[in-house]
Amino acid sequence: MATHTSSRSQLSYLSEQLNELKKKGTHFRLRVLADEPAPVCTFDGKKVINLASNNYLGLATHPKLRQAAIEATKKYGVGSGAVRTIAGTMKIHMELEEKIARFKNVEASVVFQSGFAANAGTVAAVLGKDDFIVSDELNHASIIDGARLSRATIKVFRHKDTAHAEELLKEVAGKPGHKLLITDGVFSMDGDIAPLPALCDLAEKYGAIMMVDDAHASGVLGRNGRGTIDHYKVHGRVDIQVGTLSKAIGALGGYVCGSHDLIDFLYHRARPFLFSTSHPPSVAATCIAAFEVLEEEPERIEKLWENTRFWKKELGGLGFNIGGVNTPASETPITPIIIGNGARTMEFSRELFTEGVMGTGIAFPTVPEGKARVRTIMTATHTRDQLEQALDVLRQVGKRMGII
Ligand SMILES: *Cc1c(COP(=O)(O)O)cnc(C)c1O
Repeated sequence: MATHTSSRSQLSYLSEQLNELKKKGTHFRLRVLADEPAPVCTFDGKKVINLASNNYLGLATHPKLRQAAIEATKKYGVGSGAVRTIAGTMKIHMELEEKIARFKNVEASVVFQSGFAANAGTVAAVLGKDDFIVSDELNHASIIDGARLSRATIKVFRHKDTAHAEELLKEVAGKPGHKLLITDGVFSMDGDIAPLPALCDLAEKYGAIMMVDDAHASGVLGRNGRGTIDHYKVHGRVDIQVGTLSKAIGALGGYVCGSHDLIDFLYHRARPFLFSTSHPPSVAATCIAAFEVLEEEPERIEKLWENTRFWKKELGGLGFNIGGVNTPASETPITPIIIGNGARTMEFSRELFTEGVMGTGIAFPTVPEGKARVRTIMTATHTRDQLEQALDVLRQVGKRMGII
């Protein structure tokens, strides 16, 4: 069949912008995975050691989760048929929300279609145009978009700089309107952890709502992966906790934890909840099984941290810049290899791939200009052998390119 090539040029400015990216060397093509998301898998027809996935605990291919998805599909079908507020709330959705609330030891929880939807939908629903949002400069895009959608006044503090956060809170303290202090629990590009106890102190001192996005901490930090609130023991001091079901949990979705009234309010006002169809039953069943695995198989988290310690020590030992100088120092399984220049980072990533290692290059606008990096993420399922092989490749390519 012939495809229609449009002669219209209304979108030609997009092609021009793409050409700019190509000139800069930061244009990319999507790498396509042909088999399972495993530590060794096949991207673009090539078998590689995967250092780029958020599948921290290997749950994306866990037999118990697969089985749960299959059984739920057989029993309940493949789709929910409606948004939650119309006819799309299935018993299994409620079971998942109860499961999460119990796991997190909070009154209630609501599940969204993604972590992105959870953040954006919640911030935009809870705050309005007369309110103020005080936000870490490295917070996730979904927080930034939610803040913009809320039409509240946004004040950005320097990364993890609690004195700066306090200055901003002081500035708005006398004004009417609600104040929200918001941070990622673990920062996704640098792997460092938010100064939660100090931020909670500030929220209490200035009467601000405290909100934490624990996407990269869920299943990674705290007892059985309960996240940064548990890690720092600031239970009861965070009003709104967000987590994702898409990373360590292995499937897809996001959730918000808090008081009964917060959750009931989001049922009524969070736009992704009201206007976008709920998860297929298989996804809800998979996530329920995942929380069971977190409780039953704590050794996965231990292994994740054991691999993480090994990886950071070896990678740093090779002479790579793994953060901590002009960038934050990672404290989690996310370990960036900072290259700086965007084009050089992409070249490094391509060379690694050719040699059998998948480490995705990340450049502006995902990270600041001049701080481009290959971000590596450890998982519980990488074997020591695979890690040693990957280190070998990193050393060779790093030397060849003059990075180390
Ligand atoms: C990945 C991520 C999200 C989005 O979660 P999804 O479930 O993938 O939509 C939100 N916040 C942070 C900090 C993240 O890293």
